[in-house]
Amino acid sequence: MSKPTALTLEGHEILFPALPYDINQRAAAATQDSELQNFVNSATLLRDQTRRDQCEATFGEDYDKMRTLAGQIKQHTLDHLDYYLEQFIDAAEAAGTTVHFAVDAVEANKICLDIAKRENVKLCVKSKSMVTEETNLVSDMEDAGIEAIETDLGEFILQLDHDAPSHLVTPMIHKNRESVGRAFERELGVPYTDDPQTLTQIAREHLRDKYQQAEMGVSGGNFMLADSGSLVICTNEGNGRLCTSVPRIHVAFVGIEKLIPGRAWLPMYLKLLSRSAIGSPITVYNHVMTGPKKTDDADGPEQMHIILVDNGRTEVLKPETREMLRCIRCGACLNACPVYRKIGGHSYGSVYSGPIGAILTPVLKGLANYKDLPYVSSLCGACYEACPVKINIPKYLVKLREELIGGHFDKLIDRIFFKVWTMSLKFPWTYRLGGWASARGLRARAKLAGTLKPGDRFTARGWVSHVPGPAAGWTAKRDLATPPAKGFRTWWDEHQKDKGGN
Ligand code: SF4
Repeated sequence: MSKPTALTLEGHEILFPALPYDINQRAAAATQDSELQNFVNSATLLRDQTRRDQCEATFGEDYDKMRTLAGQIKQHTLDHLDYYLEQFIDAAEAAGTTVHFAVDAVEANKICLDIAKRENVKLCVKSKSMVTEETNLVSDMEDAGIEAIETDLGEFILQLDHDAPSHLVTPMIHKNRESVGRAFERELGVPYTDDPQTLTQIAREHLRDKYQQAEMGVSGGNFMLADSGSLVICTNEGNGRLCTSVPRIHVAFVGIEKLIPGRAWLPMYLKLLSRSAIGSPITVYNHVMTGPKKTDDADGPEQMHIILVDNGRTEVLKPETREMLRCIRCGACLNACPVYRKIGGHSYGSVYSGPIGAILTPVLKGLANYKDLPYVSSLCGACYEACPVKINIPKYLVKLREELIGGHFDKLIDRIFFKVWTMSLKFPWTYRLGGWASARGLRARAKLAGTLKPGDRFTARGWVSHVPGPAAGWTAKRDLATPPAKGFRTWWDEHQKDKGGN
């Protein structure tokens, strides 16, 4: 099977991005797909709420301190990455693991394929790994004549449907069970059903023999422990454990940033990861692997290989952007993001979507290639608030925007707009005047449009379906709510008076 050149987004075929990447085509398709928005919106809202509930219930007031500590430890490890990498490699090799280093995706896949060829591998079972998505491993394996099967249920469904993941933790968040049923019927020749338990059972039966037959298992890695040379993978389906312990060869693709100093810190990260990812107290299977099977072990692979993948990470490691590498891929920022909920993960045109993708992809792949991504945010700050390792995503979005414009707007209209905006922010009276005038203007338009009655004086709000000039883009896709006649400042002054009166 050759490399896919397009993905199917609920019936719409969309080509893989030509660079420089333009988000508009995909975002426009996604915003018109109300079904897609419904799945993504409801799933992410639910995850976001369960994350909040779980973090509140477990950590209470200490949650912020926990995030600070988790962020600081990741930052410390990144600041001393050369030291911790050396310590990890020494410990892993002492435990019998073969450690490889890959500069880029091509080299990472080549290392894996060389092992497969040497060991005469015909079938490979694979657990979920974002790094192998980066390197496009499955496609390269298939080109080399090796059958490679995704075993994470979501990834398995995407592979059947020739589709790509759209979320870090829930790769098929953009699909509903009817489309899964259709894919199973078409690709596996089973009768159509949309019952989740039956579908899961079909997948389980299909995969069970594959684990037994496969000579190689490929995984990613959630953490690497520098002190013991261990690899940690966290899954909720148990497929990761089968992939890494049943076949005789285990190959793990892991980004160099996944190190933490040692096992003393692991429980804290496991707690934060599971709560932030799906709002559960703990991931079901937390698998710590230190080398291949020992003589008195009941099971495990005969060979264990870890491929430490750079693929642009040393570029991100520069001090200005290093903080981005703290990411533990929990997906909480995606679930919290109002823009991701509207446009879904495929719109971002890269393996990493959502707020973290909007900052990481331009640095990994070149800002000139992904110059739209830093703008795919309302800068509301929900991503920063959700992040368990406190990556200040909004700060980087603004920095990348600054870098893109180089301190100078090309368009005259932009220059005028920001000049006026800057002036109005310098003096309270100009700011107030601007707010007052825009509120009056919008309410007048809403009255003209008949959505606001002339008598609706204070709190009633109308809708404007078209505004002229540069703001027309906003109303092209949605109506604009008018501000209430009694603005925040008036409300505040009255409120203060009331408090003083009491
Ligand atoms: S940036 Fe933070 S919230 Fe987003 S995936 Fe990474 S760790 Fe999770």
